[in-house]
Amino acid sequence: MKPNVTNESQTAFSKDGFFNQYGGKYVAEVLRSALDELEQAFNASLTDKEFQQELAVIRRDYIGRETPLLYAPTATKLLGGAQIYIKLEGLANTGAHKINNAIGQCLLAKKMGKTRIIAETGAGQHGVATAAACAKLGLECTVYMGEVDVRRQQPNVAAMELYGAKVQPVTSGSRTLKDAVNEAMRDWAANFTTTHYVLGSALGPAPFPDIVREFQSVIGKEVQEQCSIRGIQIGAMVACVGGGSNSIGFFSPFINQEKPRLIGAEAGGIGPGIGENASRMTGTAARDGILQGYKSRFLLDEDGQALPTRSISAGLDYCGIGPQLAALGKSGRIEFTSITDKEALDAVSFFAKNEGVLFALESAHAGAAAMKIAKEIPSDQAIIINMSGRGDKDVFITSPVFRPQAWTDFLSAELERLSEHKDIHDAKSMQGGRK
Ligand SMILES: *Cc1c(COP(=O)(O)O)cnc(C)c1O
Repeated sequence: MKPNVTNESQTAFSKDGFFNQYGGKYVAEVLRSALDELEQAFNASLTDKEFQQELAVIRRDYIGRETPLLYAPTATKLLGGAQIYIKLEGLANTGAHKINNAIGQCLLAKKMGKTRIIAETGAGQHGVATAAACAKLGLECTVYMGEVDVRRQQPNVAAMELYGAKVQPVTSGSRTLKDAVNEAMRDWAANFTTTHYVLGSALGPAPFPDIVREFQSVIGKEVQEQCSIRGIQIGAMVACVGGGSNSIGFFSPFINQEKPRLIGAEAGGIGPGIGENASRMTGTAARDGILQGYKSRFLLDEDGQALPTRSISAGLDYCGIGPQLAALGKSGRIEFTSITDKEALDAVSFFAKNEGVLFALESAHAGAAAMKIAKEIPSDQAIIINMSGRGDKDVFITSPVFRPQAWTDFLSAELERLSEHKDIHDAKSMQGGRK
C-alpha cells in the first residue's frame, strides 16, 4: 500500500515492498501480522501532523539538527577539481546518523502503544543509538548482540548499559550480527503486541527499507536545502554503504533525477578475494539471494550460505545490502566503488590534518571515494561527502595502526593502574565487610 502524501521522496517508495526485483517480505506467518501492523502505523504517521511536529522538535533539540554542511577549502585545493563539501552527520547526538532512524522508530512505536523496544547490533553503534532513543522516550530496551561482538566492542556495551538498556549476548551460530538479527526476529514474533523491533539499516523485510529510508531522508533533504540556499551546484554525492541507511537517506531526494552522480563506497577490506572484503555490488562472490526476510545482493557461497566478510570498519562488514540500493545499483542510477582498508585509513588522516574533521572509519570510505573522483568533476561543481559518523569511537582501531608502540604502552599502563585500583577497591570492601 502506498501512502498518500505529498512528499518529494514519495516516488522512492517501494511498490508493495519491492524495488524492481529486490525486497519483499520472506517471513513466517506470525511475523506478517507484526509487519502489517507496522506498515499501517508508519503510513499513517507520514500525514500525522502531531507526530511530524514531535519528531521535528526532537530532531532539533535532542539530535541537534540540522547538521552543518562544511566547505573543505584545503581538501578542494589539494585534490584539484570539484569543490569539496562535508555533511557533518557525525555531529548528531551519539556521534552518527543512526540516531535519526532510532528516534523515528521509537517515537512510532510509542504512538503504536508499544512499551518495549528490541534491536540487533553488530559493532554496537545501532545498539547505542537505540538505547539512547529509548532513554529519551522512556521505553524499555533490550539489545541483541553476538557474544563475539560483546567481547570485541566493550566501549559500546558500556554506553548501552549507561543508557539503561539490557544487552543480551547471542550464543547461536557465529555469535555475530547475523545471529543477533535472528534472535531479535524470534523475540519480536513472540512479543509483538507489546514490543517493537527497531531494525538498524535500510534492509530486512518490507516495510523496514521504506521506514528506515524515510527517517534517514532528513540528511538528503537538508543537503538539498543547504545547497539551494548557498547556490552550490552538486556534481556528485558520495556515501559509504553498509546496510545502506546513511546512503539511501542522503541520496533519496535525488534518486528520481538524472543528476547528480550518486556514488556508494563499499568495504574493499584487504583485497578482492573471498572473505577479504564486504563488496556486495562490486565483489566477485556477490549473488542475488534471499536472506533474513528479503531479496537482495549478498556475499554467498554456492549453497547460498552467507560468506565471511572483512573490513577495518565494523559498520560496513555485513554480508547483505539494502534492496533499494541493490536495485539502484543494477539500474545504474547509483555507481558503486570499493575502498580498501588502507585507502580508508589514508582518508582519515587526510581530512583530520587538512580540515580538522575526524571521520569514522566507515565514513572515511566515502571520503576516499571522493578523493579518487575529485578531478573528474569541474571546479564550479561540488562533491558532497556524507560523513556518517565521527571517528572518536575508532581510537582502539586507528591507534594501533598510526602509533602502535605508544598505544601498547598506554594499554599496559592502564592495566597496571586498574589492578592497583582493584587492590584498593578490594581492601575497601573488606573493611566494609568487617564493620
Ligand atoms: C553503522 C554505520 C554505517 C553503516 O551503516 P549504513 O546503514 O550503511 O549507513 C556507516 N557509518 C557509520 C558511522 C555507522 O555507524
